[in-house]
Amino acid sequence: MKPSGALSLYVHIPFCTLKCSYCDFNSYAGLEELVQPYVDALIAEMELWSQYARGRPVPTVFFGGGTPSLLPIPQVERIVSALRDRFALEPEAEVTLEANPGTVDLEYLRALVAMGVNRLSFGVQSFHDDELANLDRIHSAAEAEEAYRWARDAGFQRINLDLIYGLPEQPMERWQASLERAISLAPDHMSLYALTVEEGTKLAYDIDHGRAPEPDGDVQASMYEWSQERMAETGYQQYEISNWARPGKECRHNLVYWRNGDWLGLGAGAHSHLGGTRFADVYSPKRYVQLVQEVADAGPPNGTDVAALLKSMRQVTYVEEPRPELARADTLIMGLRLNEGVSLPEFRRRFGAGAEAAYAATFAELTELDLLERTNDRIRITNRGRLLANEVFVRLLPD
Ligand code: SF4
Repeated sequence: MKPSGALSLYVHIPFCTLKCSYCDFNSYAGLEELVQPYVDALIAEMELWSQYARGRPVPTVFFGGGTPSLLPIPQVERIVSALRDRFALEPEAEVTLEANPGTVDLEYLRALVAMGVNRLSFGVQSFHDDELANLDRIHSAAEAEEAYRWARDAGFQRINLDLIYGLPEQPMERWQASLERAISLAPDHMSLYALTVEEGTKLAYDIDHGRAPEPDGDVQASMYEWSQERMAETGYQQYEISNWARPGKECRHNLVYWRNGDWLGLGAGAHSHLGGTRFADVYSPKRYVQLVQEVADAGPPNGTDVAALLKSMRQVTYVEEPRPELARADTLIMGLRLNEGVSLPEFRRRFGAGAEAAYAATFAELTELDLLERTNDRIRITNRGRLLANEVFVRLLPD
């Protein structure tokens, strides 16, 4: 069957100036020599998928990383024009680029606007210089503010700021001061994340060796609750567990993930979800460049059947066998992250009446625990459930 419907695109840029202490993303410092071949490979990978994607409208594109704003403008231009040549970008498509405040200037941001990037997401994380230094961020608080102002001057009308709360030994007042400073800039969107300690990071090493305390979960919960109130007072609507926006300024791209829609990920380690199949490209950027080249040399695969295409796509090194019970759980877990919750009629339409019945006991238990609330046609996570979201999600996973 010919694939149809909207298809979003994610483009992974794995380059960073320095590795931040808490970061376990697929990102690397010191790989500058790979930039040109990596962009060549991205464009070649687009070509590999172009026949599959032909005719599918693309409502959103997201450049994530890594630090996409480390790419020189001519390389961003090459990628954007290759995307436009090979995919049916909608005229009003949302095109987001993640930027590190320490890597941009007014001229760079103007060039992004000129090529059609219309949403910027700044990783600010904190407005305290000592906290930024502890996180190994490459910018100061003042530089973050300056970059934000340049982005407005350049014409960006949709700007997100990412902040992290619950840093080791961070008192409530310092988090409050960071958030207040972010609010005073009046961004259109904010993502507020609790610091998590990921295996293999410098932060995890420091904690294991007694050089840093673990983040305090109770303090993080208080910070989250305070932030929810403060963001509501200042006119931001929470629409997802960690995301707030001015009305109409939600991130359309991330909504595709949460609504379990279709997206194609391009680049090292990029994940995709096409027609119910989840898969990911090889993690290593160097290996990615080699494997894409090998597939391209063999000639672009024909056809539009995802399973058949994946057999030829050597750069795809992880494929999850589609399983209905996993697709159901994903739809619930991702959908419950959203304040709108999950539409039960839609859930039944997608997975059959039996699917809802299979969850009846779990829904009842979660409702009893005040973690879930249910109306006739929707289920939503409660405020208490947002604080204990993992408790909810773990119960929705298949055995
Ligand atoms: S800039 Fe972002 S992707 Fe790069 S190391 Fe820091 S947190 Fe990770």
